[in-house]
Amino acid sequence: MPLTKKQLAEFEKQLIAWRDELEMGQSENIHALQEQDQYTYPDPADQATIEADRSFDLRIKDRERKLIRKINQALERIKNGEFGICESCGGRISIKRLQARPVTTLCIDCKQQQEQEERTRVD
Ligand SMILES: [Zn+2]
Repeated sequence: MPLTKKQLAEFEKQLIAWRDELEMGQSENIHALQEQDQYTYPDPADQATIEADRSFDLRIKDRERKLIRKINQALERIKNGEFGICESCGGRISIKRLQARPVTTLCIDCKQQQEQEERTRVD
């Protein structure tokens, strides 16, 4: 069953709220990073902890950026009427799956197939 306009509007609202949340978190962290640079840490052990924290932060940032990009793409798909359509087989993605993961572009069958292929490649 195709998604109703109301369902699409719900997804859109959810995605925008999610993106806002990520973007807000991001700017706060960038600010914190800049502030940290203004201090010097005489204890090398402290310095190591700070460096580790920072690289962890940056990894998170990277994931957030990718997620924001996916959210934007999902919003585009809502506009184009492609939201909820599997990129691979053109079938419909179940609403349950979309609710759990609104940025997905694959139906569960194609996703499982892709994961299987990835596993085979690694082995
Ligand atoms: Zn599919």
